[in-house]
Amino acid sequence: MLELREITKRFAGVPANDRVNLTVAPGTIHALVGENGAGKSTAMRIAYGFYGADSGEILVEGRVHRFTSPHDAIRLGIGMVHQHFMLVEPMTVAENIVLGLEPGSPFALDLKSAEARIRALSDELGLAIDPTRRIEDLSVGQQQRVELLKALYREARLLILDEPTAVLSPQATAELFTILRRMRAQGKTIVIVTHKLSEVLDISDEVTVMRDGRVVGHRRTAETNAAELAHLMVGRDVLLRVVKPAAQPKAPVLGVRGLAVTFKGGEKRLDGVSFEVRAGEIVGIAGIEGNGQTELVEALAGLTEGGAVSGTIELDGRSVAGLSVRQRRALGISHVPEDRHRRGLLLDFDLQENAILGADDRPPVAVGPGRFWLRRDEIRRKTEKILAAFDVRPPDPERPARALSGGNQQKLILGRELDLQPKLLLVAQPTRGVDIGGIEFIHRRLVELRDAGCALLLVSSELEEVTALADRLLVMRRGRIVAEVDPETTSMEEIGLLMTGGSAAA
Ligand code: ADP
Ligand code: MG
Repeated sequence: MLELREITKRFAGVPANDRVNLTVAPGTIHALVGENGAGKSTAMRIAYGFYGADSGEILVEGRVHRFTSPHDAIRLGIGMVHQHFMLVEPMTVAENIVLGLEPGSPFALDLKSAEARIRALSDELGLAIDPTRRIEDLSVGQQQRVELLKALYREARLLILDEPTAVLSPQATAELFTILRRMRAQGKTIVIVTHKLSEVLDISDEVTVMRDGRVVGHRRTAETNAAELAHLMVGRDVLLRVVKPAAQPKAPVLGVRGLAVTFKGGEKRLDGVSFEVRAGEIVGIAGIEGNGQTELVEALAGLTEGGAVSGTIELDGRSVAGLSVRQRRALGISHVPEDRHRRGLLLDFDLQENAILGADDRPPVAVGPGRFWLRRDEIRRKTEKILAAFDVRPPDPERPARALSGGNQQKLILGRELDLQPKLLLVAQPTRGVDIGGIEFIHRRLVELRDAGCALLLVSSELEEVTALADRLLVMRRGRIVAEVDPETTSMEEIGLLMTGGSAAA
């Protein structure tokens, strides 16, 4: 269906694609995997006519084609769903789908017939999209389906999806995969770009692996496994399992009783939550996103916006409920937030400025009367120490945080938070958007921190991650803790049932 031959593409002299060869068989789901920066998006944008290649050939159904714009690719039946959706929010689904069609295109029909055709396409695949709804009223998962519909409306036979699951909850991911399988059954060909190996193994028929702009392997999915793919992606063996000795918990560090967060109109997003976390243990919170985990972590960190927090929060037996974020940090509560762009970093500030957030009011960085003076040399030293210890690449203190990949941003935040030597670490979605090599690194640091006597509260929507890391696992649903389970002996299915409210009893 699609073949890239010896495709090379340079940006400012630096090769993003270096003699890339890729063959996608018709009627298959083909995964393109690799770490951030491997060149996956570049290759797919070339296949979609979005970029021109410096050299190499594109073949569609065996014939060489020259693309000067995506219109050429669309005409040949290629559709692409980008990492960031390209929809106009105040307009309806149908308006967005018809928008941008070339005048004279057979599909640039009147809106009423367009709506009918979109409804039929949606029904055929079970997408449940109403063409008259406005984009701004749709969830992220629904918007993604609109992008799919947009491509199908243009009669795409080959669909390229760039990191489609990055924005989806596990449930929405499962739904997307069901849709992709239906599309394959209809004879469509799909290329899915991802860096999650579990997804590759779940959805694809074949897989091509890229590293540093090159294709480093191609396998039939049935004939490979996560360890082999990880090795190809990273270029070395990667530990995919968390190895940790049994926890040696000591005294309670965090004590939470009857914690509730109430929003306007009496909506309780957290209700009657009680638990403790001891020094030297990792307590995990499992749950489907949106069941109060975010509110819990924010209430503990002192970041609740627009809601009233009630109940007891104690650190080492002392109430911290009324204290500011800064006061809590000074007492030893560190926080790796789930939204690292909004809460974790100042993206336009450099790594030095980001590395001292939260330490900018204490020695050795802040000195003199009122700790008014900031010592540049100390800031630089501290930053270099953090960048080295947490393997942040590139280790350039003067680069803006925005220029780092997601994995390196996360390592910087973790480095900064651990440098404060916390008694309690609140850590949410620690490896979201992080490469495999980075995941291994972060998991090791968290276990080391535990073994050094820190108390950790871990929230993750990746069930595998939270069961692998946690010593005790609490399950949250609808703002409450509904169960405590032993992650060693409880099956994923049982935990999944507790998360969704089904009964685990036979
Ligand atoms: P992936 O999708 O695998 O994460 P990309 O194809 O986005 O990788 O990027 C490959 C390399 O090309 C990276 O080093 C990236 O910084 C660079 N790159 C990608 N797009 C551009 C661009 N428009 N301008 C300059 N450099 C780019
Ligand atoms: Mg990409």
